[in-house]
Amino acid sequence: MDCIFCKIVAGEIPADIVYQDEDVIAFRDINPVAPTHLLIIPKKHISSLAHLSEAGSSLIGDMVKIANQLAKMEGIAEGGYRLVINCGKQGGQLVPHLHMHLLGGRQLSNALG
Ligand code: 5GP
Ligand code: ZN
Repeated sequence: MDCIFCKIVAGEIPADIVYQDEDVIAFRDINPVAPTHLLIIPKKHISSLAHLSEAGSSLIGDMVKIANQLAKMEGIAEGGYRLVINCGKQGGQLVPHLHMHLLGGRQLSNALG
């Protein structure tokens, strides 16, 4: 499959991986918009939030838990951070493999879109 994030999971494209377990992998965004900008993704290809199965809600729960741990590791838990999942074209999703952004390390804007 021609999916850039599946290629990162498979090790075919290099990435700065900061966490992985059986189901989830996290790595630094190639074009960070904040001092900490990580992407947390399922290893399995799921195109978007809109393609989550029933079982997917526990996956999202795991991803949030991992993001919280990574925020602590990055030293941004105290100051605050933001988790974002873009879904579909109008939602601003560019890479069609479900991913959660973890942003922090500076004052983020209040704009939601
Ligand atoms: P989206 O707009 O789909 O929510 O976010 C996609 C994110 O993936 C963007 O922030 C972009 O910088 C990041 N990205 C795209 N291609 C690569 C890549 O090859 N490696 C890494 N580490 N990040 C990527
Ligand atoms: Zn994929």
